[in-house]
Amino acid sequence: MASEAALREVICEIGRRMYARNLVAATDGNLSVRLGADRFLCTPSGVSKGFMKPGDLVIANGHGEKIEGTGKVTSEFFTHLAAYEERPDVQAVVHAHPPHAVAFTLAGLSLVEPVLPEVVYALGGVPTAPYATPGTRDGADAIRALIRECDAVLLPRHGSVTVGRDLMDAYLKLEKIEHACQTLLLGRMLGETAPLDRAKVKKLHALGRNYGVTGRLYEERGP
Ligand SMILES: [Zn+2]
Repeated sequence: MASEAALREVICEIGRRMYARNLVAATDGNLSVRLGADRFLCTPSGVSKGFMKPGDLVIANGHGEKIEGTGKVTSEFFTHLAAYEERPDVQAVVHAHPPHAVAFTLAGLSLVEPVLPEVVYALGGVPTAPYATPGTRDGADAIRALIRECDAVLLPRHGSVTVGRDLMDAYLKLEKIEHACQTLLLGRMLGETAPLDRAKVKKLHALGRNYGVTGRLYEERGP
């Protein structure tokens, strides 16, 4: 496990990339990483993710209370806690507001349908959680059931939550979702985006396991 100092640097670097890639705007989004039992390093509220310094980060406990740092714990940390509570394997959580992915939720379009092999391979599908008012504890309950089954969830009209074995793993899932939505949007503008059939999906899932994909692949439940 990386040192706390190293993790602080990683959060700041990923925050800069999220901001530069338009995955967050203004003070949107938040990141956290498990430091140990009942200790989580997380981004403070009200700070741009593009301009954080390692000393800006705060340490919270499993009740969402600050135990170290000068800033305030983000109100969305309860959503992160839901992921940590449901998934002992999860070491890091990234929440962002990726515009193309959010646009899909505005239009009522699901990302569960298997269209792009890269997404099927790494994530399965990306389900959309029930709506919750951003910044409230409702966000935790909204993702709880889904995050048990997958590593990436869309929050309708709001953003995304991705989890992983480390910060980079959770961040790369976010990048993948937004890139996929940009591609799907172009495909939809040009014509239809037909889903892959069941056999091709199964082959991609098996391939992912062979090549070390460790996350949970989401599959739509049949009738
Ligand atoms: Zn948000």
